[in-house]
Amino acid sequence: MTGRIDGKALIRAIEKMATLTDQSAPPFTRRAFTETYLRGREWLKSHFETSGLDVKLDAAANLIGRMEGLDRDRPPIMIGSHTDTVTGGGRYDGILGVLTGAAVASYLHRSGQSLRFPLEVVDFLSEEVSDYGAVSCVGSRAIVGTLSQEMLLRNNPNGETLKDAIKRMGGNPDLLNAPLKKRGDIAAYMELHIEQGPVLDTAGIPIGVVSGIVAIRRVKITVRGQANHAGTTPMKARNDALVGASQMISLVHDLALDWQGSFPLVATVGRIEIFPNSPNVIPGLCIMDLEVRSISEEEIDTFLDQVEKAASDTSAKCHVSVSFETASDAYPALCSENIIATIKEACSNLGYEYLEMPSGAGHDAMHVASIAPIGMIFVPSVKGLSHCSEEFTKEEHIIAGAEVLLESLLLLNEKLDVSYAKLLK
Ligand SMILES: [Zn+2]
Repeated sequence: MTGRIDGKALIRAIEKMATLTDQSAPPFTRRAFTETYLRGREWLKSHFETSGLDVKLDAAANLIGRMEGLDRDRPPIMIGSHTDTVTGGGRYDGILGVLTGAAVASYLHRSGQSLRFPLEVVDFLSEEVSDYGAVSCVGSRAIVGTLSQEMLLRNNPNGETLKDAIKRMGGNPDLLNAPLKKRGDIAAYMELHIEQGPVLDTAGIPIGVVSGIVAIRRVKITVRGQANHAGTTPMKARNDALVGASQMISLVHDLALDWQGSFPLVATVGRIEIFPNSPNVIPGLCIMDLEVRSISEEEIDTFLDQVEKAASDTSAKCHVSVSFETASDAYPALCSENIIATIKEACSNLGYEYLEMPSGAGHDAMHVASIAPIGMIFVPSVKGLSHCSEEFTKEEHIIAGAEVLLESLLLLNEKLDVSYAKLLK
């Protein structure tokens, strides 16, 4: 059954949020911790209230709208995302997850329905990379206890610490030395988000059922040659580190382009340093950062093995040495099999075509996954554009996403009741 979501009201809410933008910055800008952000939250608070939610701020200044269930003692089913943006960002990234959550609550409120579980709709504090030492997902980290004391003491360019900023937003950072929630405190978590990539838009499919949020492996690649005079060294006598590095970049690109694994994989060399970086010196040293993303860590391993094997050809051909060092490794956050199946069932019930896909971008859900079963619903981003003012999702897709979120919630409410212990896995 579709038509339960008040689509017009949902679109009006998105348009309203878009007007709450920093006038001195490019549209659409609502950076966390700013006056504009607070104005956005003030409006959101009243919007939550008219959607039938009781609103509070938790110790991390996450804005939480709650609707009691038939059984108050149960942990809530949580729906969330974020309302902060990057500078010159969009009208949909994060905002859609929060406002569709409110639209779902509004339907339950209007129709006088109560779920068995309490429902919480959350606007997580500062999901985007913040001005406080680049900490991101501040609110969702605090919930699961990965917002460290070191992060809380980082400061913005004006010298304000993240701790003080959270206090200014209405939180109580003194309580953030322990997780705000533990396993079992959230029955299930769902997040609707724009895809931020071109896959659904290109395929003409309205709903993405997210399998998980990819693992990210960063590897430092060092190419060593010999710095030497650019005028006097014959071409055949060179050990040009940059030529070796450029071959490595092409190699990484080609191997990822031809990737035949079971899961999608992307690989990028996004940063390079050249020494001595001078027009009349043959580069003697290049240091590059390679980033590989896939839902499967095994496939990332296999890919990197292929890169390392192929690097020996580059070494021989360019008379350089190539070495690899893992710089960081973020685990994938897999969505719950049960919630994936529930979202698919919701799509089938409502007659929407869907595609199961990984999320190549990080989200608040990735943090929540450490303590609760998660599920994510993607809606198409026109031309895959995001983090820019052109970011756009069609009304029909926004409403389809909200309907799927509602149907998934209703199904989950039933299923959790039957096999609650099983779903908590
Ligand atoms: Zn987002």
